[in-house]
Amino acid sequence: MSKVIIIGAGGVGTVVAHKVAQNHAVFTEIMLASRTLSKCDAIACAIGNKYGNRTIQTAQVDADNVAELVDLFRKFHPELVINVALPYQDLTIMDACLEAGVNYLDTANYEPKNEAKFEYKWQWAYQDRFTKAGLTAILGCGFDPGACSVFTAYAAKHHFSRMDYLDIVDCNAGDHGKAFATNFNPEINIREVTQKGRYWENGKWIVTEPHEIHRPLTYPNIGDKESYVIYHEELESLVKNFPTLKRARFWMTFGQEYLTHLRVIQNIGMARIDPVLYKGVEIVPIQFLKAVLPDPGGLGADYTGETSIGCRIKGLDNAGKELAYYIYNNCKHQDAYAETGAQGVSYTTGVPATIGALMFAKGFWRKPGVFNVEEFDPDPFMEQMNVQGLPWHEVFNPV
Ligand code: NDP
Repeated sequence: MSKVIIIGAGGVGTVVAHKVAQNHAVFTEIMLASRTLSKCDAIACAIGNKYGNRTIQTAQVDADNVAELVDLFRKFHPELVINVALPYQDLTIMDACLEAGVNYLDTANYEPKNEAKFEYKWQWAYQDRFTKAGLTAILGCGFDPGACSVFTAYAAKHHFSRMDYLDIVDCNAGDHGKAFATNFNPEINIREVTQKGRYWENGKWIVTEPHEIHRPLTYPNIGDKESYVIYHEELESLVKNFPTLKRARFWMTFGQEYLTHLRVIQNIGMARIDPVLYKGVEIVPIQFLKAVLPDPGGLGADYTGETSIGCRIKGLDNAGKELAYYIYNNCKHQDAYAETGAQGVSYTTGVPATIGALMFAKGFWRKPGVFNVEEFDPDPFMEQMNVQGLPWHEVFNPV
């Protein structure tokens, strides 16, 4: 029924390849393309015909190069690109989609390489072009952004007449057994967590020092974990799409060991994103650091524990009474690994990306233009979360 191309063969790409292959009644032809062909081949080979479908085709592509992408799209004729390469490639892939007439989905907003800036403005600027071309672009379809944004839309649709306060709470209570490792691409992750904190309150952004606001939050099946307010990209679209929100924050758990390593990395200059001259060659310290840190895609085998990610929302219910609501998913790293060979953070990102692709293929999320996921009907997506491996739970007025 639908031809799909996945770009990026890292941890998230591995999960998307598995989940898309599992849904072969919908995705009848699949291609996995990335910078390093051998990584695509290894993933395609590990999947084989495990799910009873034809093999996944593979290709080498430099996603920074629009002409190469267009050439590949014109040869394969996909209906949809699932972009799980890096945020740096978002705009080149969107440009190629417009040129070759392909629809687009990603899990992280565009970032310029030379500045750690998380804003949708660059991708929202494609609105007219996608609309005129009759193509759909689905932005931010991982877990956060992604499933959490859909959770918020679901809460607004079914439970609230007015939402006042939103807290997205992201806990990874897993243990990978390494002294220090990041759960997804180290360069992107460290850029994200070392920036200043920022949250929305009474119509404006409040900026804090990195990790300035923190407190223990209680996570289901996990208990209390110190959680830190950091800026996260979905806050920008959520406060725009749900304008009654008086406050919107994003909390993430970090262990003391992780924060100590992070501080050292920053203090010695290894988190720098500007080039430095080393023996006559320009290197970017954070890119060098990525090369020596554990590969997040390889953390799965020894990973124990689970993630718990969700939304805590307060406001007025449909009868005008005060309501506190919590919706979340817990995902065990070992279950994710047993199914796909990848750890829970890759899994919780790759499964929603696949569900977004399913939403597009089935016509539920298909309209010309550029959209954040909360702008679509949340119901069919929520239904598939339960089917595809990320069941969710609701708590009303938690004590
Ligand atoms: P990885 O670093 O493991 O994988 C990235 C892949 O993209 C690699 O295979 C890499 O190739 C490939 N790639 C990088 N540059 C290019 C290029 N120019 N051309 C073609 N391929 C390229 O990252 P993850 O899998 O951990 O993360 C993937 C994406 O998911 C990131 O954008 C990340 O921000 C996002 N994410 C989103 C989350 C969410 O909840 N919304 C949570 C976690 C991640 P090579 O193998 O050669 O290095």
